[in-house]
Amino acid sequence: MSASDHQRITSLASQTAVHRAFHWLHLHQPQLRRWLLEIVRIPAPPFGEQPRALWFLERFRSLGLANVHLDDAGNALAELGPEEASGPVLLLSAHLDTVFPPGSPSEPIESTESTRIYAPGVCDNAAGLTALLGIAAALLHARIRPAATILFAANVGEEGEGDLRGMRHLFERGPYRDRIASAIALEGSGTAVVTQALGSLRFRITVTGPGGHSWSDAGVPNPILMLSRALTAIADLPLPPSPLTTLNAGHISGGTSVNSIPSSAIALIELRSSRPTSLHDAALQVRRALEDTITPFVTPASGLSLELETIGDRPAGALPLDSALLHTLRAVDRHLHLATELRLGSTDANLPLALDIPALAIGTGGLGGGIHTLDEWYDPIGRETALRRLLLLLLASAQIAPQLAAEASSTNAPDPV
Ligand SMILES: [Zn+2]
Repeated sequence: MSASDHQRITSLASQTAVHRAFHWLHLHQPQLRRWLLEIVRIPAPPFGEQPRALWFLERFRSLGLANVHLDDAGNALAELGPEEASGPVLLLSAHLDTVFPPGSPSEPIESTESTRIYAPGVCDNAAGLTALLGIAAALLHARIRPAATILFAANVGEEGEGDLRGMRHLFERGPYRDRIASAIALEGSGTAVVTQALGSLRFRITVTGPGGHSWSDAGVPNPILMLSRALTAIADLPLPPSPLTTLNAGHISGGTSVNSIPSSAIALIELRSSRPTSLHDAALQVRRALEDTITPFVTPASGLSLELETIGDRPAGALPLDSALLHTLRAVDRHLHLATELRLGSTDANLPLALDIPALAIGTGGLGGGIHTLDEWYDPIGRETALRRLLLLLLASAQIAPQLAAEASSTNAPDPV
């Protein structure tokens, strides 16, 4: 971070319009709480985010954002930016989905002794979604029109088997894919910042065979034993300790009874690493272990078959330490007297980071706990500073975005703010 970065943030923070936005956030904490409660009441299980997405479209419209729509993946999108909107885009997103299956309790319980709220998904990610709306509302109230287009996204598919499909659509297929110059994902409570994307690859291994009676069909290949043989080999794979690459066998199933030769056996395997090449090397080793242990038995006569399916692919990546986005964040944190804590994590930011697009996932303030459990809670205490931080980071980044995407577009952006 240079002195000029710091100066840039100080002068940005001293602008009247920015003060108006800060003031809105200060006065509207009760409004943010109401939005948070409304969000948690709308269930958003994996692949069932639509009701919550539609709620966001309504909010985006009533706030007065432009080009409000649902994209082909089900992401709720809206824009704020220059009149002539064809230049670079800064993505500000928060994921809609929770880990909780349909039918999970969704009625929030408000503590009578503190500002704490209990509900599944209240922190991850109703807190982030509330911040997304709060930032949009504060900018609109303050009549701030950023230099580059800010794309607000309440996106689908962050958790588990959602496999980042909302982000994947935005960056790989959607109409904004060539315009997004940087991305900020709002994620839960606290102030930690994820700049290193922990990648993961998930596989389903399925071994099938003819099956039969344990005695009269003895000799027919046994998928459970075949799979066990492969898993033993996989367990012994040498994985690099640095950067740490991990392997988990997380689920196993198959068979019918003790006196039947099973007709199938299934295992779910997960690999994680922060280095893309380590992840792919490990995947190659898994594939070879399967080929060495099972493939020799896969013949027309044996009736045995082996299938390896990729059921999850979160790419790894990292925000370079000299990136403008990180310099800006450090300058904002210095201005607000906050510590910049950088973390390794698996978030929506994985996707842009793997594509070398500057991105980070950032906490939206307050405290939270019991994440991914039915006892999850969120307390907005101290959230205001975190929201100011997001607002400054966003506005300062909207100024640098046109430079980041200079090759993609020659549009001259109007003066910021
Ligand atoms: Zn989350």
